[in-house]
Parts: sequence; C-alpha cells; structure tokens
Amino acid sequence: MRLLEGRLINVSNRLPVEIKFRAGHPRLNPSAGGLASALDSIWRHHHGLWIGWAGAVDSETAATLLQKAARGRSYGLKAVPLTQQEVSKFYSGFANEIIWPLFHDMPSRCDFDPEYWEFYQRVNRKFAQAAMETTTSKDLIWAHDYHLMLMGRYLREAGCTARVGFFLHIPFPAPDIFEKLPWRKTILRSLLQYHLLGFQTERDRYNFLTCLERIVPEASWAREDSHNIVVLDGRRTRVATFPISISFEEFSSHAASRDVDAAASQLRRELTNNFIVLGVDRMDYTKGIPERLKAFRILLRRFPELRHKVTLLQVVVPSREEIPNYKELRREVELLVSQINGEFTEAGWVPIHYMHRNLTRKQLLAYYRSADIALITSLKDGMNLVAKEFCAAQVDEHGVVIISEFAGAASELQHGAIVVNPNDLAGIAEAIHRACVMPVEEKRSRMKLLRDIVRTYNVQGWAESFLSAAVISDPRSEREAASSSSGEEPDIPLIASAATPDQRIA
Ligand code: UDP
Repeated sequence: MRLLEGRLINVSNRLPVEIKFRAGHPRLNPSAGGLASALDSIWRHHHGLWIGWAGAVDSETAATLLQKAARGRSYGLKAVPLTQQEVSKFYSGFANEIIWPLFHDMPSRCDFDPEYWEFYQRVNRKFAQAAMETTTSKDLIWAHDYHLMLMGRYLREAGCTARVGFFLHIPFPAPDIFEKLPWRKTILRSLLQYHLLGFQTERDRYNFLTCLERIVPEASWAREDSHNIVVLDGRRTRVATFPISISFEEFSSHAASRDVDAAASQLRRELTNNFIVLGVDRMDYTKGIPERLKAFRILLRRFPELRHKVTLLQVVVPSREEIPNYKELRREVELLVSQINGEFTEAGWVPIHYMHRNLTRKQLLAYYRSADIALITSLKDGMNLVAKEFCAAQVDEHGVVIISEFAGAASELQHGAIVVNPNDLAGIAEAIHRACVMPVEEKRSRMKLLRDIVRTYNVQGWAESFLSAAVISDPRSEREAASSSSGEEPDIPLIASAATPDQRIA
C-alpha cells in the first residue's frame, strides 16, 4: 500500500467506545456491533482520528472520557454530540426505518417520514463539520456506512480539499427498489461527491451503477482496470468492490487456546455429543431467524431419526429494541422456539437452546469451535461476518457452513459451503440433513478451503485495498482526468467485469 502523507480520519456513526451511565456516573464501554470492533482491530495500527457519536452525554464529559480511552490507542477519538431527537430521527428514523429496510429489499417495512430526511441532512452536516475542524488537505477521510451518505457533499460545500472515501457496509438495492426513495437523486448525487465509493459485492456495485444510469443520466463513466470511474460535473469518483473480512489470525489463535478448547469440550459433553447446529445473529428481520426455525421444524418432522441427535443453538443478540418492527420480531421468534420445543422435547433432549443476550468472546468462540454446522439464512445481508468468524474458529476443521445465497459472504464462500435460498424452507432442511450425513473427509476438505479463503482475504487486506484505492483517487488530478473523460459517450460497458479475488485484494 502506498503510504498516506497525512492522517487517517475515520468517520462512522458510532465510535468504538460508547459512554453509558451506570449508577449515575458516565462510564466507557466497548461499542455494540461487529462494525466498531472489526474496524477497531485494524485502526490500532494507523495514526489519526476517529470521529463518531459517543453516547448521550455532554460534550465536556465526552471529551474527558475519550481522551482517557485514546491513551492505549494510536489514534484520537472525537465525539459528534447528538441530541435525543437527532438520535431518534436520524439514527432510529432515517437510517434504520428507511435505509436499512429499503437497502435490504424490504420496502414495505419503510416509514418514509419527511421529518426523518430533515434530520438526516442536519446530522450529516454535523459530522462533516466535525471532520472539517480537524482535517488538512494531506489527510484521508474514510466515511463508513449508510448513516453518512450525504457527508461527502457537505464536506465539498465546506471547501474540504482532503481525499474522501466512503464504504457501504450494507447491500445496495436494485433500481426498482431504490427508486422508491423520495430523495433518491440527491442521495446518488451526494455519493458522487466522494472520491472513492466501496461496495461489499459485485452485485452491490452493479446495482449502484444501474441506479446511476437511470436516475443520474448526466453522469458519464469509464473503466480503469477492475474499477469504474464515474464523472459528474467535472469530478471523478472511483467505484470498486472490497468485501470486508475479519482478522483470521486473531479468531483462529484464540479459538485454539486452552480455555476455549476446555469450554468447547464441556459444551459438547453437556449436549451429550449431539450434532450441534449453530445460529448467531443480531435480532434483525433481515437475518431470516423465523425461516431458520421453521426449516429446523421441517427437518425434525421429515427426518425423525435425527430427533435426540441434533440440537439447534440459537444465539440472538438484542438489537434496536426501540423500533416497533424489532419488538414484533422478538415475539415471533420466541413463540416459534416455544412451539417447536413444545412439539419435540423429550426427557434428556431439548431441540432448540435459545439465548437472547450478548455472549463473551470466549463463549462465542467455544460455540463456533464445537458446532457441526453454522446455519446462516439471511434474507439479505451486506456480508455476514459470523460465517467468516466460524471458519476461522474451526481449528478442528469438522464444521459445515450452510449459507444463504443472499448473504454477501456467499459469493466468496460458495465453493466450500452449502448455499441455500432462505425462502426455500424444505431446501434448508435438506441441507442440514446433508451436512449431518456428510462423510468426514468431505467436511474436512470443504472447511480447509473455506479457511484458506478467509485467511487470504482478511480484514487487513480489505483495509489496505480500500486505502490504496483512496490514495490513487487523488482530488488534485481530478480536473485533468475529468477533462479527458467527461462529455464523451461511453464506448465501454458501465459495469466492469467481475473482479477476480486477486484483483479485488491486490
Ligand atoms: N457478536 C457479538 N456478540 C455476540 C455474538 C456475536 O458482538 O454475542 C458479533 C459477531 O462476532 C460478529 C457480529 O456480532 O462480529 C455480527 O456481525 P455480522 O456481520 O454477522 O452481522 P451484523 O450484526 O453486522 O448485521
């Protein structure tokens, strides 16, 4: 990777730490969710600043506590203060009741409240201002995820001269879905104010480019190796695919440690060496949890010989509980678990072990290591890091991955995993049965392949490939490049051919 001249300014909705009140006193906690912890593991090695929301606390207290939290890190932490109303209408409202369901192909779950849009603009401006206060033209700003799609525009308007990249961690929908968004054109044009746009999969990049073709026909484009260069109003945006991953070595070595080994053996003993099917998800309607439970019920009905022999361990991490759709989902999941356990439980065997809480890292690794199947049935998922973490933790190489074709991770893991359609409940039941009877050698060779893929395309490679692309997306060369490509009719396809894994990570 070419070295950055300046600092890396990382901007995301949440900081890697959150300030919460305990017994009336503000305390620092690690932020919930995979994104903050995945990014934290790579940012440890970069100098710079991380900007984001730190929790409901006044600016002075936040600054003092964040200074303390930054002591063991190579980068500083800066809070963007948000009011309670901003958290409610920008975060819960626009981000999680419009963009999240829409980008996961579920428009009927959207609440297109125009007030949410007002707050989305206002808060994106706040984040841009916070970045502007500390950025020089040598720095690189990396904005993360669907909360910050307008920030690039506000940075430009404020005269920002630094390079600015954006990575979308969730899927990008096809035009027929995206077009339902009343603010579709503003959002697309704002995204084109970034110098680099990164997507999880080729499908997401393709969807973005076809949306541009329909909604922003004034944009022109060219192809540069495996990237697309889009030109709008004389400015260039590089568009590319960077599938996010995990720190393989960290998961693998911790899973091989003595304490995880002991916890995994104990778990197997307690489950009387039953075949363990594992589900680990945030409580989210995109994860296909009811579909998974119904498929498991079909499995037990169709294959009675598996009763007493197979156990589903379903971990559900509490999430977004203030949003009505999420409360309803919890009721649905818990009703299904109790119905299925009521139908099949016998002395000495409970078919579904359901946990609605956060696990410690050691517990999670013990589940990953001891499970025979990771069952991922997302209806739509940006990547699904659980699938990759499971592979890294499978140091004994006996587990099988069953993954939804609509999870981003399926495009990388398809050759070693069993790929299913999450709406095909009988198909999922068949896949579980197939994994239960699969010869040991086949399981081992599939898991070896999966582990090689996750080891090779790890999160360090992901960050380096994004940063390298951001460094070559230099705003100083914009005018030159724009004059050579704008206004011309495109003579090559809008969509670059699918990048090989090598191209993606190079
Ligand atoms: N995870 C967690 N606590 C738990 C179980 C899981 O923090 O009790 C983590 C898990 O290790 C993974 C993340 O939650 O890193 C889930 O990421 P994924 O990409 O699968 O889904 P997301 O929640 O980001 O949609």
